[in-house]
Amino acid sequence: MTGPSPLRRAQEQLQAELVECRRCPRLVEWREKTAALKRAAFREQDYWARPVPMLGEASARLLLIGLAPAAHGANRTGRMFTGDRSGDWLFRALHRAGFANQPHSVAAADGLELRDAAVTAIVRCAPPGNKPTPAERDDCARWLEAELEMSRARVIVTLGSMAYDQTLRLGRRRGWEVPRPKPRFGHGAEVECGPSAPVVIACYHPSQQNTFTGVLTEEMLDAVFARAAALIAGPPPASPPGIRAGARAG
Ligand code: SF4
Repeated sequence: MTGPSPLRRAQEQLQAELVECRRCPRLVEWREKTAALKRAAFREQDYWARPVPMLGEASARLLLIGLAPAAHGANRTGRMFTGDRSGDWLFRALHRAGFANQPHSVAAADGLELRDAAVTAIVRCAPPGNKPTPAERDDCARWLEAELEMSRARVIVTLGSMAYDQTLRLGRRRGWEVPRPKPRFGHGAEVECGPSAPVVIACYHPSQQNTFTGVLTEEMLDAVFARAAALIAGPPPASPPGIRAGARAG
């Protein structure tokens, strides 16, 4: 019988350190205050109220990077995107694309398993108004940088413009060949960062603001994950349907 792989052990070690982090006073206060006050619907539940680790294995070939835990979502359940409306959209789409074993994700023990995919965020504690400050974003970069170091992703899907900008910023720091000027954020835009770096695909965030208004549709999400799957499987098609590939302006 074999134990966890060295990569898995390194990921567990990182997660153990992450969940103890209290570097940002404003966010520590907010995550704990939210957990103490609770939302009426979750009155009987104990909130996680700590930094939220990456969901899935570092060995996954698809990595999703979001903004930050939701106050009553991942800050409650302790699992990325679990227990909020954005997660409903996201995990349904991942399931349709074959990256998740089930379409719903409501609690940490709901049986969800990602398949060759992982989900993380640029900031790991729930921020007030879903808006981390630039200083908080930069303070938290250490965790995402460590995950990028161990990640085997061939494709990164960034959810929202802040995740896109931060991923490319950290990628440059890692030596990725991010084009200059940086390609402008737009749904489906792809950024090739050199032969040894993952391809970055920009995706609108599945926030209620976007999904309720039709800015982001299920078809648009499906197109992004279909493209990610194609890139993982082999050489990308020259011009995939429904995707504005290779944005270079901006
Ligand atoms: Fe630590 Fe990041 Fe949470 Fe700040 S946001 S306390 S750096 S885990």
